[in-house]
Amino acid sequence: MSQLPFLPFSKPTIDEATIAAVSDVLRSGWITSGPKVQAFEQQLSEYFGGRPVRTFNSGTCTMEIALRIAGIGVGDEVITTPISWVATANVIIETGATPVFADIDPVTRNIDLDKVEAAITPRTKAIIPVYLSGLPVDMDRLYAIAKKHNLRIVEDAAQAIGSTWKNQRIGAFGDFGSFSFQANKNITCSEGGCLVLNNADEARLAEKYRLQGVTRTGFDGLDVDVLGGKFNMTDVAAAIGLGQFAHIEAITAHRKKLAQHYFACLGSDFEQKYGAQLPVPDFENSNWHMFQLVLPERKDGRPARATFMEQMQERGIGIGYHYPAIHLLKMYRERGFKEGMFPIAEKVGRLIVTLPMFNVMTTSDVERAVDAVKSVLAH
Ligand SMILES: *Cc1c(COP(=O)(O)O)cnc(C)c1O
Repeated sequence: MSQLPFLPFSKPTIDEATIAAVSDVLRSGWITSGPKVQAFEQQLSEYFGGRPVRTFNSGTCTMEIALRIAGIGVGDEVITTPISWVATANVIIETGATPVFADIDPVTRNIDLDKVEAAITPRTKAIIPVYLSGLPVDMDRLYAIAKKHNLRIVEDAAQAIGSTWKNQRIGAFGDFGSFSFQANKNITCSEGGCLVLNNADEARLAEKYRLQGVTRTGFDGLDVDVLGGKFNMTDVAAAIGLGQFAHIEAITAHRKKLAQHYFACLGSDFEQKYGAQLPVPDFENSNWHMFQLVLPERKDGRPARATFMEQMQERGIGIGYHYPAIHLLKMYRERGFKEGMFPIAEKVGRLIVTLPMFNVMTTSDVERAVDAVKSVLAH
């Protein structure tokens, strides 16, 4: 149909300086964790207001390690949202703890903090909030709940680098901040993540958990006192991360501009006219990791999202879906979760779509996507 090249919903861009820096690492003779990892951690720490930061090979293990540092395991409950990448709940199970879901707010699509409070029991040890699309929850309220009930917070800020709350960067305050540098995130390492920690003791423990629990002393001293794994970031990945991180401010500003253009092109009557729900128009706090719509159900009984995705693809536009409700995935059903438990998440999980949004996207790409959205939803 379209003569223009296919517009993907996400796409990483690695500049030439970064490619050269990666080549230098490959030629240097030191390709695993080394000076680039140290430099990346140093820059991230400065960015997050001097808090300790450690890098890992994924955002997933970053969250798992935060839970381990908090001492969470068998017998403990951790509250999280059903609308996230399944990693968010899987890491709770990995530690031996029990995932407890609280339904989402239909407007923000983030965990509903009233429902979090209602889900707290004497076994609750932590909350993992997710900032979907980079939109934070009410951070004052979140930390008031944590304080009142003596809970740890592991912020799944995988999508929220560059996001803020009351002019403070997400990650620069609070408890644990976990970020991902997977290929589709606002900045990438190809694969990787980082954890913002509270103090030097936690940082040392993070180092142990990421490398087999090992502590080294002197020339040949080596001991193991906790069960760690193999989660270190390589210098190859860190060189990519450093190259990307240099552009963080421009990236966030550009994505905000694209989001504003989406709103302008979709128009103020979009929701009324097409029955689809827009995201919260937050140009203050969100880093606009994604631009997501919740589709209306179809009158002809066809599945709304699959039909939309297919018809957008025919028009040359890639559409993602982030995310199906976690509690309805087979392994979670086998743990006793079922339909009807979290009705808002179930509806959003079935009907949410992600429109194209990436760092080198242009305003005319936005216009193309919007034309296609309107033409598909009009039928
Ligand atoms: C990307 C992502 C993760 C996982 O990060 P990886 O680096 O892929 O392990 C977890 N939670 C959310 C919300 C994400 O978007």
